[in-house]
Amino acid sequence: MSLQIKNLSKSYGAQLALSDINIQIEKNEIIGLLGPNGAGKSTLMKSIAGVLDIEQGEILLDNESIKANEIRTKNRIGYLPEHNPLYQEMYVREYLNFVASLHNVSDERIEKVIDLVGITSEKTKKIHQLSKGYKQRIGLAQAILHQPDLLILDEPTNGLDPNQIIEIRQIIKAIGESKTVLLSTHIMQEVETLCSRVILIHKGQVVQDAPIEDFRGKYRNVEDAFVHYTK
Ligand code: ADP
Repeated sequence: MSLQIKNLSKSYGAQLALSDINIQIEKNEIIGLLGPNGAGKSTLMKSIAGVLDIEQGEILLDNESIKANEIRTKNRIGYLPEHNPLYQEMYVREYLNFVASLHNVSDERIEKVIDLVGITSEKTKKIHQLSKGYKQRIGLAQAILHQPDLLILDEPTNGLDPNQIIEIRQIIKAIGESKTVLLSTHIMQEVETLCSRVILIHKGQVVQDAPIEDFRGKYRNVEDAFVHYTK
């Protein structure tokens, strides 16, 4: 899988959110997207996931424009948005059946994903009855049901307790062995645990794009890394 982001810019009215972003992803790896609040991480992820219209620049998945080939490319991308929107009144299995029907995913695959993300014990419950950690697993399940080549996870461990964070990271790590994962986070330790590459964005621009070795052990936290790269 290759993903090319070329000269991507995005404004919300007068607010510039992304400014001439260029990123190339060529192999299966877990990439950490870091940036302070308001840096443009969610806007970038939404653009790749096809949730936001691309006005300036282009995004190519295996040389195919995601804008011009929306359905085909969306079939190959999984997306867990920030705040994990779920239908709270649905039963877990009912919700996954619904998502699966959109992608023509088999019953067998649904069961496999339920097992992979560890929600077997919860599958007959209503979504609103679940803990935040289990809800996040359902968010992950809906993102991977159709076996996407590229998985986009917007702050997947935000708001979870330490045990839940470890469990979700293990699932992401397992998925990342065969897929490309782009995840945003504020936690440097998360990046060091999961990612092989780090992209720092600041005020809508890429300020650093480097292998994790350039970061490992060097910064106490994301803020320190930013001070270093933006001073
Ligand atoms: P991050 O995910 O890094 O916190 P965002 O992509 O959410 O950053 O936001 C980038 C900038 O765009 C911020 O200044 C934010 O306030 C602005 N922004 C994001 N979404 C909207 C929107 N729907 N309308 C107006 N401004 C927005």
